[in-house]
Amino acid sequence: MQRVFLYNTATRKEEEFRPIVPGKVGIYSCGPTVYSSPHIGNMYAYICWDVLVRTLRYLGYEVKQVVNITDVGHLTSDADEGEDKMEKGSKKERVSAWDLAKKYENEFLENLKLLNIEMPAVMPRATDHIAEQIELIAKIEANGFTYKINDGIYFDTAKFPGYGDFGHLDLEKIKARVETNLEKKNPADFALWKFSPKDDGTKRQMEWESPWGIGFPGWHIECTTMSTKYLGNPFDIHTGGEDHIAIHHTNEIAQGYGAWGRQTANIWMHNAFITFDGSKISKSAGGLYTVFDLKDLGFNILAYRYLVLSSHYRRGTSFSLDSLRAAQTALERLSDLVVENNDGGKVDDKYKILFKNTVGDDLAMPEAMALVWRLVKDENIKPEDKKATLLDFDRVLGLKLDEGSKGEEIPDEISKMAALRLEARRVGNWTESDRLRDLIKTKGYVIEDLKNDCKIKKLVIS
Ligand code: AMP
Ligand code: ZN
Repeated sequence: MQRVFLYNTATRKEEEFRPIVPGKVGIYSCGPTVYSSPHIGNMYAYICWDVLVRTLRYLGYEVKQVVNITDVGHLTSDADEGEDKMEKGSKKERVSAWDLAKKYENEFLENLKLLNIEMPAVMPRATDHIAEQIELIAKIEANGFTYKINDGIYFDTAKFPGYGDFGHLDLEKIKARVETNLEKKNPADFALWKFSPKDDGTKRQMEWESPWGIGFPGWHIECTTMSTKYLGNPFDIHTGGEDHIAIHHTNEIAQGYGAWGRQTANIWMHNAFITFDGSKISKSAGGLYTVFDLKDLGFNILAYRYLVLSSHYRRGTSFSLDSLRAAQTALERLSDLVVENNDGGKVDDKYKILFKNTVGDDLAMPEAMALVWRLVKDENIKPEDKKATLLDFDRVLGLKLDEGSKGEEIPDEISKMAALRLEARRVGNWTESDRLRDLIKTKGYVIEDLKNDCKIKKLVIS
């Protein structure tokens, strides 16, 4: 089997990947908090991890990926203060927290489909695993790692000597942090179970009975619970955004230590951020593009996937509509090459070996894309062999290169007008052909003439 090297945040090194069960891989990717529409920054993360899944499959591994749905317990402040994002979103949209979760979980699924991200094997919801989370908290409690205060059950980080190691945290600085919850023994301590508010007149929509009182789980416990439930303990790879290193994953590691005396995952991988005008794109900043916005602007959504593939997951990239436009042009060139050439070619072995080594080297996608273009320009490779090789690479790229402009969902009305225009051109009726071209343009589509056919594209708004 092909050797694979992956960068492990836990050891700060690129390591040769050795799955626990030979040939099989378990991957847990921290999933979305379903309180608002996922934006393209969130989807950057899921495209990166889809490339990981596809790469391992391409290299011969059997992969099981789990992506959780956070539908309770993620508070607006990382210090376990503030409102639950779900309860807050529910008030803002005047729907129940349950309906809000359903709505944005569906949107997330739609995003996965549009971006050609392979469906995870399991997408467990935090609210469907309350009993298991309570059981795990009880285990951590029985091992002596918790304490109870007025607003919940907390993990006592002083009991875990390696607490700051994973995130290279400066514990002295954290200790000196101004703490608003004065009952906590240490500012780094985090909630495993929070009690529903008692006296402030508000009633939570999402709350459950527990051995400690009515309340809800803290955010970090869901991931330790559901990753080990669906992938075993330990499992192979845990992924998330780099914003998770200092708190969410540091706390997951502490929970693993508290429950079993060790880490739950062998490799921890983190994606850097895609930035917008130099700033981080995050949902809390608000008002950022969603894939639906990009679609409304006339882009083929897979152009965004192409843009993400041009960056390395550990470096991130910066987003602009200009770079998206360039990505779309490049994607169209690749699709045209595939669609216009004959089938029956052979995958080029030399390029395939190079491609496997490149993607197997910590997912070096910018280099893999450079290789794609080297192949396209290589005059020694027959066009049909280029097509076969590109389609083989597309198992990792996921750009639907064989679909060409079909991927753009041209409405029937436009296709019919384009067919009439083609007929007008065939009989030399140029006035009618120009009229139809203009009419099609007013409806937001442009026609590009080929020899005996034409291509219809959505007009991209600049
Ligand atoms: P959330 O729904 O806020 O929990 O975020 C879901 C995922 O998106 C997390 O893994 C974040 O790390 C990731 N994420 C959020 N913003 C960005 C961004 N601008 N670039 C890359 N990943 C992001
Ligand atoms: Zn998580």
